[in-house]
Amino acid sequence: EVLQYSGRPERKIRVFCRIRPVNQTEAAQGSAVVVEKIDDYSVNVETPRGPREFQFDQVFSAQATQEDLFQDANLIQSAIDGYNVCIFAYGQTGSGKTYTMVGDKERKNSGIMPRSFNAIFDIIQENKTKFNFKVSAYMLELYNDRLQDLFVSPGGEGLAQSKRVEIKRNRKGVVFAQGAETKEASSAQQLYALFQQACANRHIAATMNVESSRSHLIVGIKVESKNLTNGSISSGKLSLVDLAGSERAAKTGAKDHKLKEANSINKSLSALGDVISALSSELPHVPYRNSKLTQYATRVKAITNNAQRFVDSKEIAHLKEIISKLKAGQTVEE
Ligand code: ADP
Ligand code: MG
Repeated sequence: EVLQYSGRPERKIRVFCRIRPVNQTEAAQGSAVVVEKIDDYSVNVETPRGPREFQFDQVFSAQATQEDLFQDANLIQSAIDGYNVCIFAYGQTGSGKTYTMVGDKERKNSGIMPRSFNAIFDIIQENKTKFNFKVSAYMLELYNDRLQDLFVSPGGEGLAQSKRVEIKRNRKGVVFAQGAETKEASSAQQLYALFQQACANRHIAATMNVESSRSHLIVGIKVESKNLTNGSISSGKLSLVDLAGSERAAKTGAKDHKLKEANSINKSLSALGDVISALSSELPHVPYRNSKLTQYATRVKAITNNAQRFVDSKEIAHLKEIISKLKAGQTVEE
């Protein structure tokens, strides 16, 4: 049911809410603040129809630092222990996704990605007398429902075609990105350099907000470890995702190919929403296959698809049977 983490039981899917500080433009316009932190687990939002309360696993106020956020959302040890961990940021353009995941140039403001790179190698450093580690990464951009390898610089159309990345499933049912180049890193600095190289290869369309990104950025880090005492090997994965803005196509006023962009972004984000709600309500069928973004998220399934859910799905099948009997006018005993 729960992953034991840092001595505290945690749910498999955790949703954090981070409130962004008011920016200079908003302050100059005298914009009202509509989101208020009530306590560590709930916020109040002023909507046109009155106040509404929302619950989260944790709420971070506008004063929370990058350090606070990273400490509390820390799942790096789990990835090294052999779990598949995914951390992603969701929200409208300008809500602070990239700030949270990547951060800005100032070191103290660096976000979850660079902090994770450091944390991985810090843990490796502490354990290197007992284990042999291998860290490798791939970095992808999902743009217009097409996966692009960010280790390949954007060249002619021919190059883009030949380096098409596809989501595949192997015989064991493990999903992977076929055709994506993986690069090894032996230090946090090397991993960060790979990340910078990948960012330089991204599509950027400066239409809606300056520096707004219309594509999803996916960073996959695989950590393999070999126990030097008994030779056993384990492999975990950390996926870090900076999603594109969640605003609706209608609001953007975008035309033609910009509209196509907005539509495919919304398609993949709404498919993601469907997957999350199926997982959190423990439905027997999780619609992973509806978009490339969620096919990718099948990785998460390895953790969630435990014995408990198997039991649940049997029970649900049983209920379905009863319902169809009732519909057919048959009597049922229970
Ligand atoms: P998004 O990626 O969701 O479009 P950004 O991360 O680019 O949004 O954030 C928009 C702007 O707000 C950026 O200038 C960013 O530096 C700033 N910002 C966002 N969150 C914070 C925060 N918690 N503290 C300080 N500045 C922030
Ligand atoms: Mg962004």
